[in-house]
Order: sequence, then structure tokens, then C-alpha cells
Amino acid sequence: MEQQKVLFGLVGFPLGHSRSQEWFNARFALEGKTNAEYRLFPLNVIEEFPSLLRNEPDLAGLNVTIPYKEKIIPFLDELDESARSAGAVNTVRITRRDGLITTKGFNTDAPGFLKTTEGLALKGPALILGTGGGAKAVEYALSLKGIPFSFVSRKSDAHGILSYTDLTQGLIRSHLLIINATPLGMHPDTGSFPPIPYQFLTRDHFLYDLIYNPEETEFLKKGLAMNTRVMNGWQMLVSQAELSYNIFMEGG
Ligand code: NAP
Repeated sequence: MEQQKVLFGLVGFPLGHSRSQEWFNARFALEGKTNAEYRLFPLNVIEEFPSLLRNEPDLAGLNVTIPYKEKIIPFLDELDESARSAGAVNTVRITRRDGLITTKGFNTDAPGFLKTTEGLALKGPALILGTGGGAKAVEYALSLKGIPFSFVSRKSDAHGILSYTDLTQGLIRSHLLIINATPLGMHPDTGSFPPIPYQFLTRDHFLYDLIYNPEETEFLKKGLAMNTRVMNGWQMLVSQAELSYNIFMEGG
């Protein structure tokens, strides 16, 4: 008997950088889940989310990426503890019963990020560049690890948030962990990078870029030129995707 098709996918915009489709379809093939498929659903605005759920009746789960990790929250019926604590959602489980659609949001970015830091001697305090969904997941993960941090944002007016022009030699020297959670440097805009004073970096610094496409961003290249340790976002992508996969499979 033919199994019913189950559809999963990614919402965000744009999606040209994403390797989630490749990862999930390879995983379905490996597990022999021939009825499962993962597709990209670029949404121009998040208001298109409810019609996507109605128009794709086989859709059972979604990942959420830039720029909707926070914007999707009002469209969901329920959040689990990880999504509530992080204030951002990257995984949505969709349940359909008697024509009723219910959605529950999760955050696997935070535990995914945490997993990649196991065994690394990370010294804080940290600077988190950006204040979006990825940055919020990192915030939650660093809180769990007990590493103090400050955000750096283009919006310098918010209380306790640094602006890029605040980043003096002293601030850079006292923050040995710097995490890029902005899209600066992401494909196709590979020539861009966060405007921090790279000349003050030392070999004691650790630069972590959430971006994985390209593998080595300008941010990481500039760190390597100053002999810092670096990590890109590929391991985080894989760790959070594994956790999302488990959430999807629990739902099916
Ligand atoms: P997001 O929610 O849209 O947030 C991005 C943040 O970056 C914004 O809130 C903004 O903060 C800052 N930003 C945006 N454009 C900027 C610019 N031109 N100059 C300086 N800052 C800018 O996006 P996200 O979902 O957090 O994703 C951010 C990046 O992390 C993306 O490249 C994404 O692919 C990557 N990511 C990777 C993983 C992984 O598994 N490896 C997981 C999550 C995210 P301010 O307005 O405060 O400046």
C-alpha cells in the first residue's frame, strides 16, 4: 500500500543560502522515508504563513529562518519552553485533525549552538553581533552556560545594547568571544562583514559565525588574519537540524 506523503520545509526570505533542503532530503533517503520530502517556501511576508498551511495539506513541519524567527510567533498556537525562553522559533510542528490545523513552535538553535560549544574552552564575556532570532538563541544558550554577554546592534538607543561605534580597543580586548548573528557576509553578499575593529583582536579571541555559506566568511577571515580561533555555522546547522528532525518525527 502506498504511504501518505509527508511534507516538511523551510520558510524565510531569501532562501538562496540555505542547505537545509539538501540535509533533510539526504536524511529522509538514509532513513528510507520515501514518503517524506523537504521543500523551500520563500515567503515575501510572514502574513503568507496561514495560507501556506492551508494550501499545502501534506505539510507536517517547518523550519524558520531569517527574517521570521521572531515574527512567526504571533501566528502559532503554542510554544514549547525552548521557544518561549529564547523568544524565537526555528521549528514548527503542524498537526491536522478533523480539518483543524494546530501549530507548535520550538527552538532548536539554542541547544544546537550549545552542542557545538561542548569541549571548547570558551572564555567570556561575549559580544553577540545582531539582535534577531539567531542572536536570541545564542543569548539563551550563553545564559545556560553562565557566560556573560552584551549585544551589539545598529540600534544603539536600546538600554544596555552597544553600538558598533562603541567598540573600542578596551571593549574588544575584554570580550574574548565574538559571535556574528547578523547576515553580514552570507551568500550572495559575501564581501560584507560586521563593522568591528578587527585590528584589536588577539590570539586569545574566539570568533563564531552563525553563517555557514560561505564556509569562511570575511568575518572569520579577518579573525584568522589576527590569529584568533574561529568556527563557522555548519556544525550548528547540523545540530539544530538533527533536533528539528526528531521533533518532526515525533509528530508523525
Ligand atoms: P534576523 O532575525 O533577521 O536577525 C538578524 C540581525 O542581524 C538583525 O536583527 C539585525 O540586528 C542584524 N542585521 C541585519 N542586517 C544587518 C546589517 N545590514 N548590518 C548590521 N546588522 C544587521 O536573522 P537570524 O535568523 O537571526 O539570522 C542571522 C544569521 O544567522 C543568518 O545569516 C542566518 O543564516 C544565521 N543563522 C544560522 C544558524 C545555523 O544553524 N548555523 C542558525 C540561526 C541563524 P540589529 O538590527 O540589532 O543590528
